[in-house]
Amino acid sequence: MVIAIDGPAGSGKSTVARTVAERLGLAHLDTGAMYRSVAFAAVARNVDTTDLDAVAALARTLTIEVAAGGVFVDGVDATDAIRTEAITMAVTAVASNPAVREVMVAKQRAWIEQNDGGVLEGRDIGTVVCPDAAVKVYLIADAEVRAQRRAAEQNEAVAVDMVRRDQADSQRAVSPLMRADDAAEIDTTHLSIEEVVDVVLGLVPA
Ligand code: C5P
Repeated sequence: MVIAIDGPAGSGKSTVARTVAERLGLAHLDTGAMYRSVAFAAVARNVDTTDLDAVAALARTLTIEVAAGGVFVDGVDATDAIRTEAITMAVTAVASNPAVREVMVAKQRAWIEQNDGGVLEGRDIGTVVCPDAAVKVYLIADAEVRAQRRAAEQNEAVAVDMVRRDQADSQRAVSPLMRADDAAEIDTTHLSIEEVVDVVLGLVPA
């Protein structure tokens, strides 16, 4: 069974996805961490993140491990580095690169096969990665609340940058951030994590 959780930054995706996976005994994949990993590798190796071919070539050779224990890029622990402001800025160009997306989507589908399903969070899970997911959820929240959540878990600069990122994610040509027609939209503005988790679990077929 696949549970697809999409939505903008700060909508609560990560905590909700992790908790739902735990409750159901399913594996969890943060696909944003994968795009961040490619951006991290590009910056570390001085590859221009706007050079489509160079970044695509890099993405094809990278080994990316995203697990509960951390994020490893070609064996290098990048768990904290992928969350920095520099990488959060750099990831936008990387994520709008069609060839990079092709590589990441293939990796995500392979992960689904290996784990026999799971909970995936991102921007294009319900629309592109797994259009036939058993459960599709699209989380939204008021911009102010999303910025507060991000600031609480990271820092002010990252919270402010969220607006730019969401605009770029929604407006890019390939796999833009959007709700799948058959996804349940949940407004998390006034809900606790537990309440959102309960709504998602309520959508899971018996
Ligand atoms: O989820 P997170 O904010 O860590 O994702 C970082 C960036 O990766 C997003 O702003 C977006 O540009 C990109 N992303 C994407 N598709 C996904 C997951 C993330 O384009 N499925």
